Amino acid sequence: MDASGQSIDKGTSLMSQVLKDSGEKIQNCFQCQKCAAGCPLNFTMDVLPNQVFRHIQYGHRDKVLNSKTIWLCASCHTCSTRCPNNIDIAKVMDTLRGIAYRTGAVSGEKNISMFHKYFLTLAKYTGRTWEPGFGLYELKSGGLGGFMGWGLKAFLRGRMGIFPSFKGDKAYKDLFKEVDKGGAR
Ligand code: SF4
Ligand code: SF4
Repeated sequence: MDASGQSIDKGTSLMSQVLKDSGEKIQNCFQCQKCAAGCPLNFTMDVLPNQVFRHIQYGHRDKVLNSKTIWLCASCHTCSTRCPNNIDIAKVMDTLRGIAYRTGAVSGEKNISMFHKYFLTLAKYTGRTWEPGFGLYELKSGGLGGFMGWGLKAFLRGRMGIFPSFKGDKAYKDLFKEVDKGGAR
């Protein structure tokens, strides 16, 4: 059992793990490629969504968990609405991110795990993506110069406040408590 309350059995195939965690019937994918064709971020991906499914079916664990794709997916659900087999592909991508994170898989996309950690921490404590807080991420990832440039412009134009404007209501805080307990998936 890991910190999120979900179990990872190292002997379990990626296919079985994804089936267990997502409940999606990925074995039904017949490679029509409608997901990849409609994905607005397909040009950024190293492995297209339909290829992710093929790699899972073939047991190519590293090809999937080390890919940029699972982290670049924006969870827009376009693919899920296009799949003729009603596979919720966005949910599978989310599941794969969870498995990659919990097993410590290194992504081909540099700093992506750190980016997600900063994003979620800021969302949790400031209620939204609070740009000045991202300065720390930019400092650690080597992008501080660029951040200072656009950050200053945004601040001077009144587009970026120094302090967070929203702290989150009770429902919002309860959501993060559920996530911390491992109750939300
Ligand atoms: S949910 Fe992800 S994979 Fe699916 S269309 Fe959107 S960005 Fe592409
Ligand atoms: S749209 Fe569905 S069936 Fe077609 S390739 Fe994508 S996951 Fe497979």
